[in-house]
Order: sequence, then structure tokens, then C-alpha cells
Amino acid sequence: MEQFASIAAHDLQEPLRMIVSFLKLLERRNQDKLDPQAHEFIELASDGAIRMQKMINELLAYSRLSTREKELEDVDCQKVMDQVLMNLKVAIEENKAEITNDSLPLLTADYSQLLHLFQNLISNAIKYRSHQNPEIHISASKKDKEWSFSVGDNGIGIDPKYQKRIFMIFQRLHRAEYPGTGMGLAICKKIVERHGGRIWVDSKLGEGSKFCFTIPIKSNAQIF
Ligand code: ADP
Repeated sequence: MEQFASIAAHDLQEPLRMIVSFLKLLERRNQDKLDPQAHEFIELASDGAIRMQKMINELLAYSRLSTREKELEDVDCQKVMDQVLMNLKVAIEENKAEITNDSLPLLTADYSQLLHLFQNLISNAIKYRSHQNPEIHISASKKDKEWSFSVGDNGIGIDPKYQKRIFMIFQRLHRAEYPGTGMGLAICKKIVERHGGRIWVDSKLGEGSKFCFTIPIKSNAQIF
């Protein structure tokens, strides 16, 4: 299944690129000849194709998580956090988000995957904000043989009946109101599981969400 997804995603890229570029050409060459409705239809078609490009790219990123082996290294989670805050600087400022964190550990992990994991969860915590300014806290505590992390927010929250579904590929609870493809949490789940951990969410609709995940202290053994 995974191999199929990867090959299909790869092969679908080229025809999609053709659709996008010929729609652009059609519009450019016929600027004055087309009526406003025709322009609107072309724009809708382009938006659909661009959205599909994003989904395919994310599907590829998802399948590459297991096909690209990477050496595990010592990762300072505080450094990961600093990088995330830098990458999300604009969104943080625009939303007046306040982000705090406990002291974060050193792990044996894949740096770029951990970055992706924290960044996805924190950018969701900003995106699914309520009318209050986002207040986000990242906690970390050591329990037995694993580190336990959480990313808590004061956003719109999630109805318990959907809390499993949101971790599946392309599953979204919100369509038009928020941008996105529904791949973010599926990618997070795969990253956590590749490191031998678990991920879940504690939340109630309207009462914020807390995304929790664990990473074993010695995750080398589990990564494949
Ligand atoms: P996307 O954000 O692209 O829709 P995700 O896989 O990251 O995809 O999230 C899946 C769904 O889970 C989202 O559509 C949203 O409904 C819900 N969700 C994710 N994070 C949060 C959050 N922090 N607060 C409320 N809902 C969330």
C-alpha cells in the first residue's frame, strides 16, 4: 500500500503540473476574450489542482518517512523548539500567540522528524485558535523508560468522537474555514511510532486541546 501510494504520488505530479501550467497559459492568452465567469472557473480549477499538488507532496513526504533511513543522533529538544519558534515567527506574531515550555530533554532521535512533529502540533495549536489569543504550553516529563510530551492550547477543541479519526490520512474536521490537507497529524503519528512512541489527544469541544506523545529514552531499537 505504501509503495503504491509513493509511486502513484510520484507519477501524478507530472500530469498535474501540466494542468496547472496550461490553465495559466489559457488565462494569459485569453485575458480579454474571456468573460468574468470564465476567469472565475479557471481560477477555481487552478485552486483545485494546486490543492491536489499539496496533497500529493504531503503523501510523498508521508511515504518517505519510512523509505528514507536516517541515522539517529543526539537531539537537544530545546534547539528543536528554538528552530520551530523561528520558523513560525510570522504566525506567532500575527496571532499574538504566547508559547512557553518546560525544560526539554536530550533525545536519541531523527532531528528533522522531531522538528516536523513539534512544528505541526504548534502550528495547529495556533491555527485552531479560539477568540482568545493562543496560549500554548509544551510540557516534558520523564516516566520510566520514556519521555512524555504534551502540546496544550486554549483553542477550539475537538469533540471526543473524532479524536481517533484526526490522525488518519487526509482526515479533517474543518474544510473551507482553515487551510490544510489533513495530513499533518497522520505525519506526526508516523514520526512518533517510528521512534517507538504513542500519540493521542485529550480535548473537549470549546475547551482547548492537549496533544500528548511519548518517545522512548532508547528509541534506537524500534526505528525501522
Ligand atoms: P489539517 O490541519 O491540514 O486539517 P491535521 O492532520 O493537522 O490537518 O489535523 C486534522 C484535523 O484535526 C484538523 O482538520 C482539525 O479539525 C483538527 N485539529 C488538529 N489540531 C487541532 C487543534 N490544536 N485544535 C483543534 N482541532 C485540531
